[in-house]
Amino acid sequence: MDRQKEFVLRTLEERDIRFVRLWFTDVLGYLKSVAIAPAELEGAFEEGIGFDGSAIEGFARVSEADMVARPDPSTFQVLPWSTSKGHQHSARMFCDIAMPDGSPSWADPRHVLRRQLNKAGDLGFSCYVHPEIEFFLLENGPEGAPPRPADSGGFFDQAVHDSAPNFRRHAIDALESMGISVEFSHHEGAPGQQEIDLRYADALSMADNVMTFRYLIKEVAIDEGVRATFMPKPFADYPGSAMHTHMSLFEGEANAFYDPDDPLALSATARAFVAGILEHSHEISAITNQWVNSYKRLVHGGEAPTAASWGRSNRSALVRVPMYTPNKASSRRVEIRSPDSACNPYLAFAVLLAAGLRGIEKGYTLPPEAEDDVWSLTAAERRAMGFRELPASLDEALKAMEKSELVAETLGEHVFDFFLRNKRREWADYRAQVTPFELKEYLGL
Ligand code: GLU
Ligand code: MG
Ligand code: MG
Repeated sequence: MDRQKEFVLRTLEERDIRFVRLWFTDVLGYLKSVAIAPAELEGAFEEGIGFDGSAIEGFARVSEADMVARPDPSTFQVLPWSTSKGHQHSARMFCDIAMPDGSPSWADPRHVLRRQLNKAGDLGFSCYVHPEIEFFLLENGPEGAPPRPADSGGFFDQAVHDSAPNFRRHAIDALESMGISVEFSHHEGAPGQQEIDLRYADALSMADNVMTFRYLIKEVAIDEGVRATFMPKPFADYPGSAMHTHMSLFEGEANAFYDPDDPLALSATARAFVAGILEHSHEISAITNQWVNSYKRLVHGGEAPTAASWGRSNRSALVRVPMYTPNKASSRRVEIRSPDSACNPYLAFAVLLAAGLRGIEKGYTLPPEAEDDVWSLTAAERRAMGFRELPASLDEALKAMEKSELVAETLGEHVFDFFLRNKRREWADYRAQVTPFELKEYLGL
């Protein structure tokens, strides 16, 4: 048995772990868990754990429901006290999902990302990601009551008398106890809105980290008597919750995005990568912004991007080139500002990487930088300047995705078809709703 597996088995014994939770993610980005007793783990390492995949969103057609979860020992972590509430500890491991014949499941988002990372590897690149995750803390109101922010803080506020700083401290303790390093945390612009930025890691570990992050944040919120939500836009009058995604490609030890001779310290590789993101931003939008609600965030004025533009320190741009420490080779990166906090991180990182790599492979040229604040221009001015608007609704995004050979290839046929079917239904359900807005406008209610 390899060293990692031995380490896991020894830790289970030494720390007196009661349950091992085997985690995986469905196509829409929901975390799934099967708990097993530590005694079962050795067998699980050998053969995996069989389960019925037909109940999992997007996993199997009923006739092909048998699936096997294979725990990845490199992801073993003990869950913090706050989630085991004084009982014996539990631990978790992420799983790769296999078919009964041992081949990787085409429905497993982790596999979709691995495939894309292998493709990057074939081109000589490894991919690093650092997300800035925004979310809201809401009051625990009575059932059915409209949501209310849990505090009244604003951007970077250090409020002494509200719960947010305490919450962030507990959240960071929990994250770090599971090996997830936090770089920054602060109150975001809206009441109740928080942001926590994770230190960069390879893209697969980071997608696992994002899943763990959402779980821990929700648990810590429950402990603190509030409720956490990653919904992209819970309040019409406040900005929504982004998951700005900083990316860089390394060739061995060298950052392939860094060029000391460029005015922005940005290499030709980085420029082609950004060109790829801009060029394919429409097709990948349904993945980076996957809910009806996601498109309520991508409107003018909310510090969210609305057009496929790029710029340095330009917060209205889709891709921003951060200029904090441009000459630090290791941290040269680009920030993609469209993804929201409710995306499936495996699929979102996979399509972003695919779009950027396509730009590199085909040698796309980067259009000129957007100097102006895109939000202050009229739609006609934006068109005249060559900006393409991002999809304004899930419907538009799905229409762009449907035609995309890039997204079909990246997701694989199974995930591509399932996703489109599922999201078409979401759009149809939404479209049939009569909203409070309409009742107010047309009936005066
Ligand atoms: N919350 C804003 C958004 O939805 C982003 C704010 C920021 O620039 O950090 O995109
Ligand atoms: Mg922010
Ligand atoms: Mg940012």
